[in-house]
Amino acid sequence: MLGSVVVGIGIAGSVRMRDLLAPLSSSAAEQLSIRGFVSRRSLEDQQGVKQISMTEALSRDDIHVAFICTENTSHEENIRQFLEAGKHVCVEYPMTLSHTTAVDLWNLAQQKGLVLHEEHIELFTPDFKQLKKDISGKTLEEGKLHFTGGPLKANFGFPSFSGIARLTWLVDLFGELTVTSVDLVEEKENKYMKMTAHLLTQQHKPLTWIEERGPGLGRAKHVEFRFQDVTITELPAGQREPVGLFMQDLLLFSRKLLGEVSAAELQAERNRILHCLELAERIQQITENTHA
Ligand code: NAD
Repeated sequence: MLGSVVVGIGIAGSVRMRDLLAPLSSSAAEQLSIRGFVSRRSLEDQQGVKQISMTEALSRDDIHVAFICTENTSHEENIRQFLEAGKHVCVEYPMTLSHTTAVDLWNLAQQKGLVLHEEHIELFTPDFKQLKKDISGKTLEEGKLHFTGGPLKANFGFPSFSGIARLTWLVDLFGELTVTSVDLVEEKENKYMKMTAHLLTQQHKPLTWIEERGPGLGRAKHVEFRFQDVTITELPAGQREPVGLFMQDLLLFSRKLLGEVSAAELQAERNRILHCLELAERIQQITENTHA
């Protein structure tokens, strides 16, 4: 059994704990057993699991795996501490708020022979899986993905990082991208912001990615993908699956721990993740240079 600890008991951390307590039966996730959780707050038992200190989590021989579910600004430090201590890490996206540190952490994991996994539940949603099937073989002419949601919580980073799930959709659907320009509208007093990133596919087709957040904005994705023969303006519903999104991610991470994921698959995933973080960093840099 691989002893596990959950770090950060917010929405994601609580779901992780729930899934670790009841892994899908006869799956690779059954090798994981939760030994405690770490929080900066002093908490009662959560779902029957006891709080332990960070020092204990890092030093105990019966803890082999850490789930990092804290806010984005503290991922980097948490990942580094657990890797240095010889523990495998599963981190909620985005891994870090910088491409350079992500490369660094990945190299550290490799040197130590540890699994470093970044969760991407957005790739498991029924609408995304169906969309990917629907557009397979089609030639993109132009596209737009517009995300709206409530105000961003503190410590979740620049919108290109906090919204990396949307960027990951675009890269997974259309391949590597380049950034041509970025517009950012920010009204701090109204907790409103709108980032518009103009991207190009390798075939030089334009893609626009918009992250818009503010009070009263419902969580939604609006798409417009124009292909040579058809235009998609609504996300397909997709087939609901019996296994939840975080559990699907847990299965993938568990299969990595068992060495069941091929080297080619791992490399492709790493390339995609690092490419998205590089784009996110580029978008942030362009914005900062424009607003300097
Ligand atoms: P969250 O705000 O619920 O929790 C974030 C951090 O804040 C946690 O460390 C938690 O311990 C702490 N926290 C929560 N409530 C607190 C309180 N009352 N007092 C003090 N600290 C408190 O955020 P989240 O949605 O769980 O996100 C955590 C990570 O998971 C982020 O990296 C996010 O990008 C990622 N993620 C979340 C989801 C999701 O559905 N929530 C999906 C994908 C990725």
